[in-house]
Amino acid sequence: MNRNSMLAQLDENKTWDVLIIGGGATGLGAAVDAASRGLSTILIEVEDFAKGTSSRSTKLVHGGVRYLEQGNLKLVREALKERGWLLKNAPSVTHTLGFILPSFSFFQKLYYGTGLKLYDFLSAKLSLGKPKFISNKTIEKISPAIDQRNLKGGIVYYDGQFDDARLAINLARTAAKHGAVLLNYCEATALLKKKIKSADKQEKVCGVVAYDYMNNKTFEIKSKTIINATGVFVDDILQMDNEDAADIVTPSQGIHLVVDKKFFPGNYALMIPKTDDKRVLFAVPWHNKVVLGTTDTEVEYITDEPIPLEEEIRFVLEHANRYLKTNITQSDVCSMFAGLRPLVKTKGVTNTSMISRDHIIIVSTSNLITITGGKWTTYRRMAEEAVNNAIFVAKFEYIHPVTKNLPIQQSEFDSINYDDTIENIYSVENIKKFVEQEMAVSIEDILARRTRMLFLDVRKALLAATVVAEAMATVLQKDNNWIQIELDNFTQLAKNYLP
Ligand SMILES: Cc1cc2nc3c(=O)[nH]c(=O)nc-3n(C[C@H](O)[C@H](O)[C@H](O)COP(=O)(O)OP(=O)(O)OC[C@H]3O[C@@H](n4cnc5c(N)ncnc54)[C@H](O)[C@@H]3O)c2cc1C
Repeated sequence: MNRNSMLAQLDENKTWDVLIIGGGATGLGAAVDAASRGLSTILIEVEDFAKGTSSRSTKLVHGGVRYLEQGNLKLVREALKERGWLLKNAPSVTHTLGFILPSFSFFQKLYYGTGLKLYDFLSAKLSLGKPKFISNKTIEKISPAIDQRNLKGGIVYYDGQFDDARLAINLARTAAKHGAVLLNYCEATALLKKKIKSADKQEKVCGVVAYDYMNNKTFEIKSKTIINATGVFVDDILQMDNEDAADIVTPSQGIHLVVDKKFFPGNYALMIPKTDDKRVLFAVPWHNKVVLGTTDTEVEYITDEPIPLEEEIRFVLEHANRYLKTNITQSDVCSMFAGLRPLVKTKGVTNTSMISRDHIIIVSTSNLITITGGKWTTYRRMAEEAVNNAIFVAKFEYIHPVTKNLPIQQSEFDSINYDDTIENIYSVENIKKFVEQEMAVSIEDILARRTRMLFLDVRKALLAATVVAEAMATVLQKDNNWIQIELDNFTQLAKNYLP
């Protein structure tokens, strides 16, 4: 997957079958689905692939135990199916993980135990293992950091875990393998429209005006269908189409704190079943660190680089500390990150944690197909529905989707040991592969998404920045001025990842 060879495939005279705006989970999934059905497919992403919400998740491939409590059985069952398929199709970036749910009374144990049995039952043949009751003694053995005071044992259940940004890059590579063209740092700045038939009352979308930030070039891309998969930004595209279109997204921020494994050793995750705002909170082992989160805060301002709020940091630490023997403080945080959920506006619901995590598809009168909401776990299903709609509006002959059993590309970088030396992880040879095979163009792309160092350990990422910048400059034949600008930009950005 090489940016120059992608650019070489652009042809202003060509009309694509499917054009996707947005290179997060949903858009990349749609590119894989459309290309693997044999449709000519192009995707443009204004930043880097997965720069937005799709690199900032809790890293769980799950049905959502919480949604079961809200009575949304259909959503849970669908997501559990997707969980099963994703674990099979992308084994290099996903795995099964055991979760401990601590109990403080017999009633609690029975209540959550019954719920988790139902959760497993709904996964049917794709079960990852039956939940079981465990004693305090077992908890001490498998997860010694959990505070045993007042504890009456607990339950172990199983869900999936993944590396979100690595999966995104692998999806991009899978789409490319099936013939899709994908461009990062390329923005859809306007929609092109025309009347398809003279009898049409309304103009239909037929392409976009795109801006390539790497070459400072504007060009047109023509396409028979357009999928708007821009996450929390879908309203911008909807309003490009129709300036009177109402907003459909309520953005809700969630943050994570990453701490050293010593605060929560072992191979199990912790699930805190009820926070003060009636949600769940996790402590999840990830790349030999522990991710704590998340929050659910309605925000006004939509950005691709949201910053955790002071009260969110306090909230996460306070809740984790209630369950752990050793108190974690702000100074123990190795990294923190925030993401914005594209929640679908729901009439009469004032609390974002109560808004359904289901997705929505809208086909505008211009034939613009907009898809948002949902979860990373359900990206494949969402993509399939979006492409089905594209086939319908363009009256293409129906081709069956194949992604349920389609292997997703794997990479040697899916299993990086982040405790290895900076020189080994960021050797010139590796940097060359990130640039030439995974379309990294900035040091942030390499430190935040091709590898996850920024999300795991900001201080180590800052130490690695110079090594990465110098190696990239060699590969891309850039001068010292470029190195300095890259280092300044990254240092500035990294400040947002520490409390
Ligand atoms: C805190 C948090 C925790 C989560 N945890 C989980 C979890 O554990 N498991 C799970 O399954 N789900 C989880 N989710 C949900 C999941 O992360 C999201 O549902 C998913 O990432 C959304 O993907 P998307 O592609 O729709 O949006 P995005 O990832 O935001 O992608 C949209 C892309 O469109 C691009 N774009 C915008 N405008 C333009 C334009 N004009 N031209 C070109 N490109 C444009 C943006 O730059 C962006 O990259 C979590 C979400 C949050 C916020």
